[in-house]
Amino acid sequence: MRLVLLGPPGAGKGTQAVLVTKHFGISHISTGEMMRSAVSSGSELGKKLKSYLDKGELVPDGLVIDLMRNRLNQKDCKNGFLLDGFPRTVDQAAALTGLLEELGLKLSAVVDIDVAEDVLLERIKLRGQASGRSDDTREVASNRLNVYRSQTAPVSQYYKNSVGIAVVDGLGTVEEVNKRIVAALNNTK
Ligand code: AMP
Repeated sequence: MRLVLLGPPGAGKGTQAVLVTKHFGISHISTGEMMRSAVSSGSELGKKLKSYLDKGELVPDGLVIDLMRNRLNQKDCKNGFLLDGFPRTVDQAAALTGLLEELGLKLSAVVDIDVAEDVLLERIKLRGQASGRSDDTREVASNRLNVYRSQTAPVSQYYKNSVGIAVVDGLGTVEEVNKRIVAALNNTK
């Protein structure tokens, strides 16, 4: 099973990604996690990435696509994977289609977690207080939502016109949302 999980910042993608990958026994690939660990390693790549993450801006497509090309060629992706936080632009989505074609693969499904904006801002603020994530302050959170609206929301349209997309209501408890996602995926099998 090869999945893409879409949704605005604060929709619960990371939490749901962990549950869904456990449920289906597939690899969890989070570009945000990959980038945060590059930043904390202090590598040259990490230094380049830090300013984008701190401002809530997207890292340039070329960099992210290179990271993803390497990641998808790793062994653990053979049993399937869920992409969390990628693609975030239509160009990344088109590049992913190309990368998968090179590997003779196609996506099985795309899930979009839908949550209203006022709820998102409140959730990101609470997460920032709890986790100390440096991109969860109010200004950065609202910038990340703007970036999402202008650059990432069109990715849903890209998939509506190709693979198809399952929109899941992201309001409710973690378990409720998880049940909806699993049900939607079982329906697309
Ligand atoms: P996330 O944990 O998925 O919310 O990602 C945290 C931050 O990492 C984002 O605000 C971006 O700065 C960067 N990032 C993660 N994934 C991508 C991507 N696919 N394209 C560009 N930037 C990304």
